Amino acid sequence: MNREEILNKIRQAGVVGAGGGGFPTFKKLEATVDHIIANGVECEPLLYKDREVMLQETDKLIAGLIIIKNITGASKVTIAIKKKNSDLIDILRPSADKYGIDIFLMENVYPAGDEYILVYDVTGKRIPPLGIPLQVGCVVGNVETFVNVTNAVNDIPVTEKYMTIAGAVKNPVTIKVPLGTSFGKCLEFAGGTTVDRFSILTGGVMMGSVVNDLSLSVSKTISGLIVLPDDHSIVVRKTTPAKVYNNIGHSACDQCSICTQLCPRYILGYPIQPHLVMRSLQMTGDEKERLSNWAQNCCECNVCSLFACPEKLDPKNICTDTKRKLRKENKGFSKTELESLFSDVHPVRDGREIPISFLYKRLGIKKYDRKADFIKTGPVNSVKIELKNIFGGDVAPCVNVGDVVTKGQIISQVNGNALATPFHSSIDGTVKEIVNNSIIITSNNS
Ligand code: SF4
Ligand code: SF4
Repeated sequence: MNREEILNKIRQAGVVGAGGGGFPTFKKLEATVDHIIANGVECEPLLYKDREVMLQETDKLIAGLIIIKNITGASKVTIAIKKKNSDLIDILRPSADKYGIDIFLMENVYPAGDEYILVYDVTGKRIPPLGIPLQVGCVVGNVETFVNVTNAVNDIPVTEKYMTIAGAVKNPVTIKVPLGTSFGKCLEFAGGTTVDRFSILTGGVMMGSVVNDLSLSVSKTISGLIVLPDDHSIVVRKTTPAKVYNNIGHSACDQCSICTQLCPRYILGYPIQPHLVMRSLQMTGDEKERLSNWAQNCCECNVCSLFACPEKLDPKNICTDTKRKLRKENKGFSKTELESLFSDVHPVRDGREIPISFLYKRLGIKKYDRKADFIKTGPVNSVKIELKNIFGGDVAPCVNVGDVVTKGQIISQVNGNALATPFHSSIDGTVKEIVNNSIIITSNNS
């Protein structure tokens, strides 16, 4: 199989970044690179999804890395994992050694999985501000993405997702379920919740969003569902309206700058200073615009809001809102300014990284810190597959209500968009409904 054929198979199988990014993998691999990095770092608290992917799918992970190495011409391949998962070394080592793959152990700190941090720690190179790993010769992908690449080359499309169900549930678990499985069904696999009134954080405690709708369904990018009581401080903070956090930020920020001192991107030398963005709330005109630019390089890790700020203000959301506004209005630091503001790595960086154990305590989630081992689930008889690509937009259905479909069958067109990837049925069944660009399929055995 030549390179173009492999890239086409990866696209037609619907492979996108499985760690949350959702960028189409075929597009990422069109370049020639030096170094492939498999991101198995999984720094979000309570998640075990990447650990279990590496345990359950070791051979496919290694095979996917070799496929990508060959088509990109990379000379180096590294699997990055956290020290807390160092027991995986014995499992990965035999195949890794056979194919010349390095295993890199990262400290148990948050957010080690941020691409900028990961690339620096593994290679010593820094991605330019607002840049991508390719600019320093790297391709970074979640470990599950490489498993999906191996499947794609063997004509198996993306129809399933690994995810952890944790928090206030009876039995925290990691599962592999058909795409489109409802969140309600996922909670059943964890034995249900331990509290009556709860919210769900999709994807993680630090970077996830709060949802309350159990009919929402599993996508190609979700890493887990964390259940927390409705009145848990994280839920309260994440559901505070923008008007409220802006008003409080405006009046209560004392400019102590701890948010900046602990910002993982700042201590790596990037032009990001959340305390200056907070100061912009008190300004107008040119001064406000100038200070707002310090939000541009925010990776939305939430260290400033959920860990650093002693006043429990929300610099993360204020930086995120400001960053989006700058992007929409095509404003921000110029390329030359970004280059001149890109400083050396902070000399005390090592001392300022956030140990995961501190994070658990600070977030008030220590009591939920239980292993979430992989279990095989029972059948899923109904799925709702949302035809939404994070990049490339929605794709149109190519099946009709009443059609009988089989697992792996294409159910959506790509519409020629350069970035879009198709979707496939995740179970054998019949198309029951197509609504709001989602396809509901029920099993013929249900
Ligand atoms: S969320 Fe806060 S700590 Fe994280 S990168 Fe943005 S400003 Fe820095
Ligand atoms: S840590 Fe909090 S109070 Fe201090 S500058 Fe940042 S937002 Fe303001």
